[in-house]
Amino acid sequence: MRIDLHTHSNVSDGTDTPTRLVLEAAEADLDVIALTDHDTFGGLVEAQEAGRRHGVRVLTGIEMSADRDGRSVHVLGYGCDVRDPGLLAELTRMREARRQRVPQMCARLRDLGIAITMDDVLMQARGAVSLGRPHVADVLVAAGVVGSRTEAFEQFLAEGRPAYVPRYATELGRAIDLLHAARGVAVLAHPWGRQSRSVLPAPYIEELVHLHGLDGIEVDHQDHDSHTRSLLFEMGARLGLVRTGSSDYHGAGKVDHELGCNLTRPTAYRELLARIRGRGGAVPR
Ligand code: AMP
Ligand code: ZN
Ligand code: FE
Ligand code: FE
Repeated sequence: MRIDLHTHSNVSDGTDTPTRLVLEAAEADLDVIALTDHDTFGGLVEAQEAGRRHGVRVLTGIEMSADRDGRSVHVLGYGCDVRDPGLLAELTRMREARRQRVPQMCARLRDLGIAITMDDVLMQARGAVSLGRPHVADVLVAAGVVGSRTEAFEQFLAEGRPAYVPRYATELGRAIDLLHAARGVAVLAHPWGRQSRSVLPAPYIEELVHLHGLDGIEVDHQDHDSHTRSLLFEMGARLGLVRTGSSDYHGAGKVDHELGCNLTRPTAYRELLARIRGRGGAVPR
């Protein structure tokens, strides 16, 4: 069984349609994927329909934005009721904050002598319901200002760079509670990737387990080197967490994140499904 539990479509900041993503997953010999778009369930009906046609199980997923002391972190939700009113209201609030941030980023860029507008970003993002910095990055690439999304982040859009604008996100403990209230489970995405090692130190992760019933952590992720992976693997075992692996695929939007480049072990997947069932949530077939 080949299982990849973290992927994005163009309903958020991936570049493949949900159908295309599933086709690519079948091509990559994956048996199970989770579609985990940022702050939206919008691509799931299409992905699950495509999954039935192409023999790929599609687990209901989401990558929720969250806030830990003013720093941005991500939490993956699996098996949630996609109609849960409490969760949906919070996701709507975050997508609205994402949208409101775009003109602010454009204004920062204008101050730097780069003339791009909200309309340019909306055109670039086509049907995306969840707007993100990668869509602004794509406009900068199309305008020839930078060569890639990565370069756009490094020069302008990453935290601490001149066009960075913060936005509202759910407090992390509350995000986990909301996922549970929607009968899903919560897994910390790339907890020690990029700069998040200092944002999510081990004692704090332990607190999330005890106070909020955190279910798992992503271990095998491209943003974790092999030493980090072994530390997380051991910590997860000590805390009784499900330890997952994934590509965090964004189509052409992210290099070195090919589908299936990291996988979730079948035993971990079964553990995750058992936890979802325990919450009364939805598992594929
Ligand atoms: P946002 O949702 O607007 O906060 O933007 C976060 C998204 O941008 C995530 O999906 C990341 O994968 C992507 N991202 C963050 N940093 C970088 C980077 N340095 N290069 C490319 N993509 C990035
Ligand atoms: Zn993304
Ligand atoms: Fe993420
Ligand atoms: Fe992601």
